[in-house]
Amino acid sequence: MKHVYLDHAASTPLDPRVREALAAALDEHYANPSSRHPLGLAASQALARARRQVATALLVEPRRVVFTSGGTEAVNLGVLGLARAARARGRRVVIGPTEHACVRGAAAALAREGFEVVTLRLDRAGELDLEDAEAKLTADTVLVAQMRANNEFGTLYPVEQLARLARRRAPHARVFVDAVQAVGKLDCALSELGVDALALSAHKFHGPKGAGALVLAADLPLEPLQHGGGQEQGLRSGTENVAACVGLGLALELAEAARATQVQRWSALRDRLVQRLTRIDGLRLLEPGARRLPSIVSILWPGAPAQVRINHLERHGVFVSAASACQAGKRELSPALLALGLSDDEARSTLRVSMGRTSDESDIDRAAQAFESVAQELEHAAR
Ligand code: PLP
Repeated sequence: MKHVYLDHAASTPLDPRVREALAAALDEHYANPSSRHPLGLAASQALARARRQVATALLVEPRRVVFTSGGTEAVNLGVLGLARAARARGRRVVIGPTEHACVRGAAAALAREGFEVVTLRLDRAGELDLEDAEAKLTADTVLVAQMRANNEFGTLYPVEQLARLARRRAPHARVFVDAVQAVGKLDCALSELGVDALALSAHKFHGPKGAGALVLAADLPLEPLQHGGGQEQGLRSGTENVAACVGLGLALELAEAARATQVQRWSALRDRLVQRLTRIDGLRLLEPGARRLPSIVSILWPGAPAQVRINHLERHGVFVSAASACQAGKRELSPALLALGLSDDEARSTLRVSMGRTSDESDIDRAAQAFESVAQELEHAAR
């Protein structure tokens, strides 16, 4: 029985066209892109093309794209680098209420260095509480880090509004956006969002793992995390992974080209799944906020821990995850789910179904069938 993979918010399969470009780059561009001989120049040209592809998608100049080893590194470079470079201007760092572990972890590191880390709040509807944000954005704030789209339940946050508020209330603050779940699915042009920096990761849009970028809106003071050969304009020393960057660039170009149609497809697939799931007794959809990614369906299924449901669904060949894959292996409850006001038990019972470009109606029908079968099995077992 072929499995149905519905865990694309954790990672996506490589697009075959990206695989081809990546394999060719591995073979052809083995030279160091900093070398001045023809092979080095060819590698550096391939890197430059990838940089242009990312820059075109996000409407920035190519030199503002800093390649990294993935989303986590891009986030760390953005959060730590921007805050540390602004140390002399203030010590306050403001982060969103449902940030990924890498933002929370980087902020915790800043707190250990003497920064004051303040977390924003959600309102009852699951929206970012902008009144609370206004009060927390003080003149000594040097960094605001707010995700664009949540990885566990897909809520889209108004980073444009938050950025405007920050300009007014905290003129020294840089606005950083973790757009790892949003890039390739939403317009993330930095000028549209009005933000200073944004992190992205290729494996979330059918590119390779271990490839990401920090994208800057302007030449900003940014303290690098590592020191060495001065690659990536001195912001990220270390020989670039040319093939991975080539894969990233092409994957983003392809995602952008498919974006509009894909959003419609996901919305229809989501409706199809939701229609069947809502008929299951006791199961509830988590739909915080007015706008969400159509590719993520968050499901609160009380009565058993998410991992038990996941194991049952797995027996039917359907692979989904607990709200966040990073959280899944750990005992810690998802802070993002708790920020929504869920109880510990509810947070433990929350599942995530997430679609990618290859997801289709038959996947959704198989998943719905598996959810229905598991509900029946567990009902029988309880009698
Ligand atoms: N930020 C968000 C919102 C994510 O969902 C993830 C990955 O799950 C990351 C950052 C980390 O990205 P990477 O897996 O490329 O390190």
